[in-house]
Amino acid sequence: MKNYPVKKNDVIEVEIIDLTHDGLGVAKVDHYPLFIENALPGEKLEIKVLKTGKSFGYGKVLTVLKSSEQRVPVKDENFTKVGISPLQHLAYGAQLSFKTQQVENVMQRVAKLPEVPVLPTIGMNDPWHYRNKAQIPVRKIDNQLQTGFFRKNSHDLIPMEHFYIQDPEIDAAIVKIRDIMRKYSVKPYNESDNTGNLRHIVVRRGYHTGEMMVVLITRTPKLFPISKIVPDILEAIPEVVSIVQNVNSKRTNVIFGDEIILLHGSEKITDTIFDLKFEISARSFYQVNPQQTEVMYQKVKEYAALTGNEIVVDAYCGIGTIGLTLAQDAKQVYGIEVIEEAVKDAENNAKLNNIENATFTAGLAEELLPKLVENGLQPDVVVVDPPRKGLDGQLVNTLIETQPERIVYVSCNPATLARDIALLTEGGYEAKEIQPVDNFPQTTHIESVTLLTKAVD
Ligand code: SAH
Repeated sequence: MKNYPVKKNDVIEVEIIDLTHDGLGVAKVDHYPLFIENALPGEKLEIKVLKTGKSFGYGKVLTVLKSSEQRVPVKDENFTKVGISPLQHLAYGAQLSFKTQQVENVMQRVAKLPEVPVLPTIGMNDPWHYRNKAQIPVRKIDNQLQTGFFRKNSHDLIPMEHFYIQDPEIDAAIVKIRDIMRKYSVKPYNESDNTGNLRHIVVRRGYHTGEMMVVLITRTPKLFPISKIVPDILEAIPEVVSIVQNVNSKRTNVIFGDEIILLHGSEKITDTIFDLKFEISARSFYQVNPQQTEVMYQKVKEYAALTGNEIVVDAYCGIGTIGLTLAQDAKQVYGIEVIEEAVKDAENNAKLNNIENATFTAGLAEELLPKLVENGLQPDVVVVDPPRKGLDGQLVNTLIETQPERIVYVSCNPATLARDIALLTEGGYEAKEIQPVDNFPQTTHIESVTLLTKAVD
């Protein structure tokens, strides 16, 4: 065994010098890094070494010897155990600086473009209770059906009633639904042998409309006694306009299955962004922080700088929210999205808002954009909003070959953003500015909007 400067179960004093991208404090013992939960830069701590590995180890705080001025009281100990909010002990202003710094770091280390301006992260006035959607696991604990959240890195359910970062109306709805499920002895799902029935309760609420959707995700199509459960939910939560059951019989961590059974009302709820209406179905992506979504989309609008004559592509368009927001200032919008249900939602949303200059197509952005271009499309502005893994290489190539005037890059992962900016820069673009927007307070997630334009040589 190699000799590390520390070994498991050692109790030592350390000083925290940094925070990792996932919010762990970093201490160094003879250059050997230790990662420590619930530890902030500047703090002096007595810690116990939990684990040592080849190039780093983990430790646990025993005593705080000197606390950071940026430390704030936590809402709930359970909340730390489930890891939903790894930055909850850090003052909100410092969370925002941390996020700006993270983007600066990757622009320096990954993109090797330290000169690109990163603006200060735009935060929320009240950085709690923001989420418009909850996906809550259901399990049996001490012989009772419980809702809560899994302990970090595990599937042990910790019963919880308050989630603090969700719309409080959603937290209250989950508890009411839990009680109705108990009343009718619905069987909670048992993961170890794939038995039982109710796996998750998903609730979505329109921020501006108050309309609520309840999705009961079950292992089997049978959910007894549904004729009593539905009226009870409607009576307990009058805002509910949609109750759907989703069947997922597989042994999997994926929450949703394929089969949807409508139990009450509509298959969709409506919400608004700016002055536009959007209908959202159970499995479609919809931004989870409605207040910051408008801040972010406003930035997209500003960077797109439309005059009414432009051809715009909205790649990774979901239910069409960005494209439809831009349509009123564009000549024509083409949306591309891989989930067919979301494309149907997008088409429907265009109609709902009497928008006639937007069309949506189902398929992979990296396959469809080259096809559209082959067929003669010459976009002036391309908005991309990819998942965490960033842009596919093929899509980057198509952008470089097509040379739209502007690329507006909405990103939920600074590391892949930096990688893609480097590639686009090699392909003749210049990153003008990056604006991080805090869509996920108390967490380490970082959303940002970047403007790239054709470089003038
Ligand atoms: N712009 C939308 C959605 C962003 S989320 C909004 O602001 O609400 C990213 C979307 O990309 C999801 O809807 C996902 O289904 C879709 N997606 C993921 N990979 C894709 C790909 N390769 N091609 C097209 N769409 C993709």
